[in-house]
Amino acid sequence: MKELIGVVPLGEVPTLAIEVVAANITAYYKLPADVLPMRPLPESTFDEARLKYNAGILINKLDMLDFDGYSKIVGVISRDMFIPIFNFVYGQAVQGGSLALISLFRLNRNADGSTPSTSLVFERAAKLALHELGHLFNLFHCNEPKCIMHFSGVIEDLNKIPFYLCRDCARRLPR
Ligand SMILES: [Zn+2]
Ligand SMILES: [Zn+2]
Repeated sequence: MKELIGVVPLGEVPTLAIEVVAANITAYYKLPADVLPMRPLPESTFDEARLKYNAGILINKLDMLDFDGYSKIVGVISRDMFIPIFNFVYGQAVQGGSLALISLFRLNRNADGSTPSTSLVFERAAKLALHELGHLFNLFHCNEPKCIMHFSGVIEDLNKIPFYLCRDCARRLPR
């Protein structure tokens, strides 16, 4: 199957952010990426105890059958999300699979509480998408700090990682 990536807003997400994510996917991975129409964010994935969306359940709600013609889907939400072992996650992906998710929620704030420029917010969103797509291409977390597959636990990590894969990870990318 030819690779065609779909970037889909789940609920209200700024259009420009979605376009920047799609453009960066094409620029870095050299793959076509389409901006898809908005889908509602399934409210059943909201966890009343943690007041966030459950990323694992949400990703399971994204059925590939709904995205005919697309080999990989990156869902984008504006709300906060978590997985049971972490208080929050920036992104989630099915390792080696077709579905990934990123959340813009925590990108609008710097570590010191100040507000980042819009371009920095977009830069962070693009890095998240490139990282989660790496998982879809079956790349794992990388120890090299100068690699998009380096794990980001806090916002400074996301600022530090580059837009590209290290040489080892790039070699593992499927042709
Ligand atoms: Zn990761
Ligand atoms: Zn790497």
